Amino acid sequence: MLDLRSDTVTKPSDAMREAMSSLAAADVGDDVLDGDPTLAELQARVAAILGVEAALWTPTGCMANAIALMYHLERGDRFLAPAGAHVLEAELGTSAWLAGGLPTPLPVRPDPADVLRAAGGASPYFGLRSRLLCLENTHNAGGGAVTGVGEHTALVEAARSAGLRVHLDGARIWHAAVALGVEPSALVGDVDTVSVCLSKGLGAPMGSVVAGSAEFVAAAWRLRKMLGGGIRQGGVVGAAGLVALEQIADLAADHEHATLLADGLREQGWPVSTPDTNIVLVTTTEPGPVVGKLADVGVAAVPFGPGVRFVTHRDVSRADVETVLERTAGLPVP
Ligand SMILES: *Cc1c(COP(=O)(O)O)cnc(C)c1O
Repeated sequence: MLDLRSDTVTKPSDAMREAMSSLAAADVGDDVLDGDPTLAELQARVAAILGVEAALWTPTGCMANAIALMYHLERGDRFLAPAGAHVLEAELGTSAWLAGGLPTPLPVRPDPADVLRAAGGASPYFGLRSRLLCLENTHNAGGGAVTGVGEHTALVEAARSAGLRVHLDGARIWHAAVALGVEPSALVGDVDTVSVCLSKGLGAPMGSVVAGSAEFVAAAWRLRKMLGGGIRQGGVVGAAGLVALEQIADLAADHEHATLLADGLREQGWPVSTPDTNIVLVTTTEPGPVVGKLADVGVAAVPFGPGVRFVTHRDVSRADVETVLERTAGLPVP
């Protein structure tokens, strides 16, 4: 079975397993008491890459986002996010039931006017208070769509002029940076908080990072503990995160493979998106049967909104994509 369901299915590389086992016998500490040296190193490196003051490791991206939203929102505060955003659709409503936010979806690809309109103007004391803009780059449900530096900056400026704070869900910010040929920090700019995943595409078995000011990270440390995410000798998994950061440039191959897959499927008559990064979406009203037929020929994809999603990742080679296309050639066009 060639597994293109997600870029989270990657197995830790040999270098990663090596780093984890050598660190298991080396430098770890209690990250709940006074810190783990390997996690501290990882956090410092991620903060530097993102161009922010400080960072905190979390077991998952969902926890990283929940921490940021809990920090920004008070109960009943409105927050804006692009339609289909992970914080809206794929985190069990924690933005509402943990962070207390009232979500307002923007278009999938919002522009500054959309932000200003949705934020609303000054309202009477009983009006809804708009507090936060939550961006996502790349946009998963948007097919791994990249927001460019200028577009990002304009959205952040609109949010500021409406008095909003900004959180960036950068689970796949690495993909956006590689696709654009810019540093990840250029895509962070002056947001208040940013979350990134080490387990998507970069291949770590687990781990995300949430980052921002030192003041935010001090609060985030408490919130992580509150959510049950205070881990002890986390260096063992942090070691994999350090290796993951060395693998950012490798994502260019995943993007090439996604384009190869999309072009090949299109030639076979499939209605597919043109990928910016590593996600290929097929439009179909029957995602379940399409995924079933793919599985019958040894290709794993997932039903995804009103379609089917393929994700290329470091455990899928160019030859694997060619094999996928040989197998889909025999299937009915969705
Ligand atoms: C996967 C993902 C997350 C959450 O990450 P987990 O580690 O699975 O909790 C957050 N945002 C986006 C855009 C994602 O794709």
